[in-house]
This record gives sequence, C-alpha cells and structure tokens, in this order.
Amino acid sequence: MICKNFKTRNKNNKKEKRIYYYCSKQRKEITYINCKECPYKEYKSNNNQIKKRTYNLAKKEKNRFSILYNQLNKCCICGNPVVELNEVFEGAYRQLSIDYGCIVPFCNQHHNQFHNDRSMNLYYKSLFQEKFEKTHSHEKFLKIFKKDYTYLYEKESMKNLH
Ligand SMILES: [Zn+2]
Repeated sequence: MICKNFKTRNKNNKKEKRIYYYCSKQRKEITYINCKECPYKEYKSNNNQIKKRTYNLAKKEKNRFSILYNQLNKCCICGNPVVELNEVFEGAYRQLSIDYGCIVPFCNQHHNQFHNDRSMNLYYKSLFQEKFEKTHSHEKFLKIFKKDYTYLYEKESMKNLH
C-alpha cells in the first residue's frame, strides 16, 4: 500500500517539465525508494467513510417523519408528551420504515403494547400500509415490506371474533 503522503506532481515551467514524487508530510521532493524505506508511512484509513455513513444514518434518524402523524411530540394514542418514535416495520425493515415515513409516536406504555399485542401491532402496520398504498401502490408495498399486513390484520380480527 502507498503512503497517504506520497504524491505525484507535475513540474511544468520554462526550466523543466517532468513528473516527480513529493511527500506532503516532509513537504519536499522524494524518490520512490525514499518513500518505500520511510519509517513514518501513514495509510489512508476508511474511518472517514464509516464516520460519514454513520453521520448520514444519524441525520436520517434525527429527521424521521411520519406519513400518518403530523405531531410526533406526543403519543398518538394517549397524548402523553414523553414519546419515543417507533419504526412501524421492524428488524430488517427498520431503515425502510425511516425512508418511507412509517414512524409512529408512542409513550412507553403504548410502545410496550405495540410490541406485545399482536392485534394492535398488525393494526398499526395495516394503517401505514393503507396510507402508503394511497401514494404508491399495493404492489410496491409488497415489494418493499414483503407482507400484506392489511390481510394479516383482517385475519387476526376474524380470529378474535370467534
Ligand atoms: Zn400512550
């Protein structure tokens, strides 16, 4: 691997025209061997790229929006102002939920219910599916989120009636 301070430069003036190597750490012209044998080699890390990616994701998380709720600062069920924003489609679909605004504000109690009560969970998923399908399409929803929650919720409701 090449040291990150190793540069190729171009001299192009009246006196000379040539390509030479330059060390941006020592700030002087060097030879290839100088660099190869230099004990102070530094390598480009991909830390910055990782940082940037993390930053972009964090920014997206901070700017979470909801296609169903205008007010994200209170629980959509009880109005409690202490809320957590939840991605409606979890796990592998968490980032897609963020991208498509499938975000729901719940207080702690309703957040727990959302995760433990299958019927309520499916109810919210189906609500967002319906809203999503109004601006996109049923086919697109299935393509992205893989399941028909409207159908699953209806099936669940029928089961509970009996
Ligand atoms: Zn609540």
